[in-house]
Amino acid sequence: MEKSDVLIVGGGVAGLTVAKFLAEEGVDYILLEEHDDFFKKACGEGVTPVLGDYTFFDLYESKKGIENVAEGSIISTKYGVMEYPLPNIICDKREMEAELARQATKKGGEIRMNTRCEDIAENVAFPQEIKFKICVGADGIHSFIRKKLGIKNPDIGVGMCGITKDIDKERNKCYIEFKKEVIPYGYSWYFPKKDEWNIGIGTTRVKYFKEYSQKFKEMHSNEIKWNGSFLPVSKPLKPYNGNFALVGDAASHVIALLGDGILPSMICAKILADVIIKFARNDYRNIDFSVYEERLKKEIYKHFLEGYRAYQVLSSIWFSEYLFHVFLKMMNRMAKKTNQCGCRFWHGFKYLTCSKSFI
Ligand SMILES: Cc1cc2nc3c(=O)[nH]c(=O)nc-3n(C[C@H](O)[C@H](O)[C@H](O)COP(=O)(O)OP(=O)(O)OC[C@H]3O[C@@H](n4cnc5c(N)ncnc54)[C@H](O)[C@@H]3O)c2cc1C
Repeated sequence: MEKSDVLIVGGGVAGLTVAKFLAEEGVDYILLEEHDDFFKKACGEGVTPVLGDYTFFDLYESKKGIENVAEGSIISTKYGVMEYPLPNIICDKREMEAELARQATKKGGEIRMNTRCEDIAENVAFPQEIKFKICVGADGIHSFIRKKLGIKNPDIGVGMCGITKDIDKERNKCYIEFKKEVIPYGYSWYFPKKDEWNIGIGTTRVKYFKEYSQKFKEMHSNEIKWNGSFLPVSKPLKPYNGNFALVGDAASHVIALLGDGILPSMICAKILADVIIKFARNDYRNIDFSVYEERLKKEIYKHFLEGYRAYQVLSSIWFSEYLFHVFLKMMNRMAKKTNQCGCRFWHGFKYLTCSKSFI
């Protein structure tokens, strides 16, 4: 039987970031990815540049696949338009994941594409028959490893996106529209890539998706190839059990308000890699992933919880688009004052949503 100290299941941004940082320290691992190529999932490809003490470029360490940096976002509702001046990086996510994989393999890591892990029993992955000391579940929203660990599923939202050249808007801005007639309990986006646009809609109420996604398709060129996917919209889940750890969508590592998961997944993946590297140096004696959860709580959970509270507050006032607009405007004004470069407009929400009197 084959042996590997660490088995990573899932080669999305979370699994690949764990792989990259483990490879840098020479930790022995195998990553299994079921697809034959990266980025099969729908994504708006907009990346928050900064979250807490982490920056995207410090973690990514490359410019490959970075297509544009929009200097701000235009947010609109039925009742008006507001500008949010913080930047947003637009990437080619396939290229970005391929680059993370390149960095990982260059440093000696092993990534096996087109290899689906079907089951895990007694620290062995099947059908590959790989025996491991640690397993990382980076297998996305429908994580089978999470199910194996008996950790509850997150609440889910759903979205769809497509790539088009056919948008007549300024290319130095991202556009986010909260409009009930376009999609209730969610938003539509127009993110400027290098020569094209990533456009799409997402909602946290799955029941509206079929009808409104059809309307959205009809609003745009019928040459667009649409791609749909689910995303978690919960607070972070318990991220470990025994010698198994979860990261990324598998553990609901997202800013629920806007469904941002790229930078959050990378941050959690870096923290997880740091923890595993320490275990490796101690020859995998006394593996205790509560250390991972403690670091997540200390370094990043507050951002997840703020985003989740903001999402709950906004969901509760969707019944009135006017109230929604007034609320957004107020939040946007506060967000500008926080001067939290790069964290998109949701930063403003924390002032209201963290106030005990408000919740
Ligand atoms: C419509 C939509 C738009 C979004 N837009 C944005 C955005 O603009 N900005 C942003 O920051 N976030 C966005 N997100 C969220 C973001 O895409 C995710 O949070 C992020 O990609 C999560 O990465 P991950 O590696 O955890 O999961 P995934 O990207 O889902 O990767 C999991 C990987 O595991 C593999 N896998 C699963 N099961 C197995 C198995 N049994 N064996 C082997 N491999 C397996 C899958 O093939 C997949 O490659 C969006 C999400 C959606 C759905």
